[in-house]
Amino acid sequence: MDILEVKKLWSDVKSELRETIPAHAFYSWVDALEPAGFDNNSFSLLTVHMMAPQIVRHSYYSQMSSAFEKVFGRKIDFSIDYDAALAEKYKKEKKKESARPKSIYKEEEEDQQKSMDNLAQMQSFSNLNLKYKFENFVVGENNRFAHAVAYTVAQNPAKKYNPLFIYGASGLGKTHLMQAIGHYIIFNKPKLKVKYIKTEEYVNELIKNLQYGGERNARMDKFRQKYRNIDVLLIDDIQFLESKTYTMEEIFHTFDSLYNNNKQIVITSDRLPKDIPTLPDRLRTRFEMGIIVDITPPDFETRVAILKNLAEVRCLDVPFEALEYIANNYVNNVRELEGAFNKVSAFVDIEKIPVTLDVVKRVLNCEASKKELTIEMVARAVSEYYGVTVADFLSSSRNQKVSGARHVAVYLARELTEKSFESIADFFRKKHTTMLYSYEKIKDEIKVNKDMERAVNDIKNSLRS
Ligand code: ADP
Ligand code: MG
Repeated sequence: MDILEVKKLWSDVKSELRETIPAHAFYSWVDALEPAGFDNNSFSLLTVHMMAPQIVRHSYYSQMSSAFEKVFGRKIDFSIDYDAALAEKYKKEKKKESARPKSIYKEEEEDQQKSMDNLAQMQSFSNLNLKYKFENFVVGENNRFAHAVAYTVAQNPAKKYNPLFIYGASGLGKTHLMQAIGHYIIFNKPKLKVKYIKTEEYVNELIKNLQYGGERNARMDKFRQKYRNIDVLLIDDIQFLESKTYTMEEIFHTFDSLYNNNKQIVITSDRLPKDIPTLPDRLRTRFEMGIIVDITPPDFETRVAILKNLAEVRCLDVPFEALEYIANNYVNNVRELEGAFNKVSAFVDIEKIPVTLDVVKRVLNCEASKKELTIEMVARAVSEYYGVTVADFLSSSRNQKVSGARHVAVYLARELTEKSFESIADFFRKKHTTMLYSYEKIKDEIKVNKDMERAVNDIKNSLRS
């Protein structure tokens, strides 16, 4: 989700909260929370007040939950993390301007607002999630080399390793590390233009621009300018690059233009360039030109360190045996490890109880054997719900019932699996653009149509059980 969209949503949530949280608490703790991003159905907020995570989560959890639910139209998770680096920055700026004869509180608020504004501007252009920084990236044997190289690139963009290619399975910290480079550069070399883009969004944007008949050339020029006019380009999940010639051509020229102008390029993928079957040789050799680093699943010590770090930024006391239990049950994927921790932390907030091993076991018990969903599983559940068949989905039937259900199946396949629109199009035997259309149609409809929202939630629940 675009960061501007995230900010808009947060401002809506805040309006709700202004009504439900007492004014003194709202202005002390909630008003200054900074939206950092929205990923994996979780909304992340940052604060420069060390006590805010604890106070807000313990005293106003239910108000926060229902405000989010009201704005999003469904239940979503949220996290509030203390950001030490941001706090440090405020402190420094405050010192600089300490001569002003204003009440100390006023001054503090204004300073805070000012750095937030600058940061927000850069963040909004670069499209980064404020949460993903070097400061909260835990280094272990699994990512030591990747981290060292990424840090070197952040310190010397376009001078040492170019392009930097990071690969590893899903949920191991590729996006985090890549965005950490972006943040480091924004903080330390604010003149450089940083841009983060998911490969899929790049492709979708390209396809949209290509569809404009008369204006197509002008639009394409603008599109190219946008991507060739930056100093640091971060391209996430390149394995989702489509095999279409025009997509390859476009990215190829963007790459060359940036590279030849001595701009830094960072790429991530779930596999090596040579293992991406759709990648043409001339792109592959370019991706292999700089340095390739991998991230593997974290060992036990690293998993515990990651959990400890999370406990610290949430200001939560978690006994070692509880950390150990989580670390032993979530082995291959940091995203799931973090998800498990978030679940526990939400539970103890609602119940207002301390974290113990028993509590953790109770909360995560049913979770550990979670299955991974495939497009087919999703399609089957949707077909059963609407009383049609999966074969109907694959056919070219335009029957209203079938095509309505098909839209939903496409939407949920995209939301619930990690598959690209191209794979989804393959499964349904339809065009990529048709998939995009279905996806966006349902996404919009959920916002205004309660019946549709309920149907989608019912199907989701049936897939979970
Ligand atoms: P990928 O892009 O490889 O799929 P992400 O970068 O999205 O994975 O990481 C998934 C989640 O795990 C993120 O919330 C990220 O902050 C967290 N994470 C991954 N590796 C680390 C790490 N070494 N230290 C702290 N958090 C991590
Ligand atoms: Mg990623």
